[in-house]
Amino acid sequence: MPRGAPDSLAARHDFVTETSPSKRYGINARRACWDAMEHMLRRERRRAIFTGRADLHVHSLYSDGGQMPEVIVRAASGRLDVVAITDHDTVAGALRARDYAGEHPELGVDVVVGEEISTLNGHLLALYLSERVPPGLTARDTIELVHAQGGLAVAAHPFHPLRGVARGYRSIGRLIPELPLDAIEVVNNAGVFSRLYDAWAALRNVEWMLPVTAGSDAHDVWYLGSASTGFPGRDAPALRRALATGRTRAQVDWSWTAAKMPRHVHIQSRSVLRFLTVCRQARLTG
Ligand SMILES: [Zn+2]
Ligand SMILES: [Zn+2]
Repeated sequence: MPRGAPDSLAARHDFVTETSPSKRYGINARRACWDAMEHMLRRERRRAIFTGRADLHVHSLYSDGGQMPEVIVRAASGRLDVVAITDHDTVAGALRARDYAGEHPELGVDVVVGEEISTLNGHLLALYLSERVPPGLTARDTIELVHAQGGLAVAAHPFHPLRGVARGYRSIGRLIPELPLDAIEVVNNAGVFSRLYDAWAALRNVEWMLPVTAGSDAHDVWYLGSASTGFPGRDAPALRRALATGRTRAQVDWSWTAAKMPRHVHIQSRSVLRFLTVCRQARLTG
């Protein structure tokens, strides 16, 4: 603390009025400078907390995404510190991405092995997996399996109109208070109207106070990092610690402008076709 600086906030705001004008000017100017400096430091500290950027919802060609895992890792370099590959009901692409990122530390990208699991209650994101969790179970049983292998369970786009809920089952969005979830995806940047269901998820989370995540739900590297989870640190273990302590920030780094629409529609129609093919293949292989 500089010499002569007042040591309490109240004292700093208590500007001197009863002394000669020159003395008053000197004292008050010093106090004002000190206030401004502290305000700046506080702002910098707040900014520095969320140094890492992670996209926690990304699909590869191993499900209905558009690119191979290696392409995604390379595209993430410079845009993100951590990327979670969360293919539908498989971790094969994520494991491949993790190996590739491990062989290329110069890219500066850490990969979290994830999966978007089709539960009977809708889509559930699992992060920090080591092996695949089977689809077709209830959300509660699925979360149990995720936790058994040390993973984290996140409610994926819990208020999206298409959540993959099986007939006769309640959606994860409605079950959130009863489920042992580790986090909630409050930013899912999958479409033009995503802000609406994202806003509702964020609002409802006021009741649950779950740690928050953001993901682009990218089915093409074009969208990669369009939504990001901010966290203190730069790598996957730091992100995990941040999720465990609720020190994450979900944000959208993208604006849906008219100029983006033709490319968006083109990518989305290709991805719907791929998704239908994946579903058909899954049915055929039982
Ligand atoms: Zn989904
Ligand atoms: Zn998805």
